[in-house]
Amino acid sequence: MPDLKVLLSRETIAKRVAEMGKEIARDFDGQSIILVGVLKGAAIFLSDLARHIPLDATFDFIGVSSYGNRPTVKEDPAGHAAWDSLGEVRLTKDMDSSMADRNVILVEDILDTGLTLNYISKLVRAHQPKSLRIAALLDKPSRRKQPIEAQYIGFTIPDAYVVGYGLDYAERYRNLPDICVLENPPENPVGA
Ligand code: 5GP
Repeated sequence: MPDLKVLLSRETIAKRVAEMGKEIARDFDGQSIILVGVLKGAAIFLSDLARHIPLDATFDFIGVSSYGNRPTVKEDPAGHAAWDSLGEVRLTKDMDSSMADRNVILVEDILDTGLTLNYISKLVRAHQPKSLRIAALLDKPSRRKQPIEAQYIGFTIPDAYVVGYGLDYAERYRNLPDICVLENPPENPVGA
């Protein structure tokens, strides 16, 4: 049986997400913003974050995948589940609207190697936005392969595989209200 241990409780997450919303509202006071969520993991974070930003705001979503080079979960020597991102990012859903001359905030669940956000940032920059910032709920800096700067970070966490609050393992656990460390994941999960 997979073993779930709470790393960040729903109360802790809610408090920090509210603070992040306030920081964004303060930085863009009097301006319009567009929140661009990275599917599917950031959907829950974006919906909570947006309700703490009392500005003129619109939403868009972008989809990316590491298909063909699918990341796997493997055990590290300490027996913990570790994310093994193999590094090829592919666009599965483009943004619906133009980002030209807009204040874009990319909303991501977790910043790990940095490959995904580097790839998406390049796509958005090609639209020539007025500004581009990144809001990531979680950051695992020890895993970084490509440098990337996120202006709004919820929590810095150790190198563990986490699920819940939008984050999945083989599409499961996204609906958990807390963020949990997944230990002993099933080897052949249905839907993986
Ligand atoms: P990066 O491109 O920065 O390596 O990875 C970002 C993506 O990897 C995230 O959007 C997420 O889909 C996935 N990811 C990285 N670490 C974890 C983790 O601990 N748990 C889950 N569920 N996904 C992760």
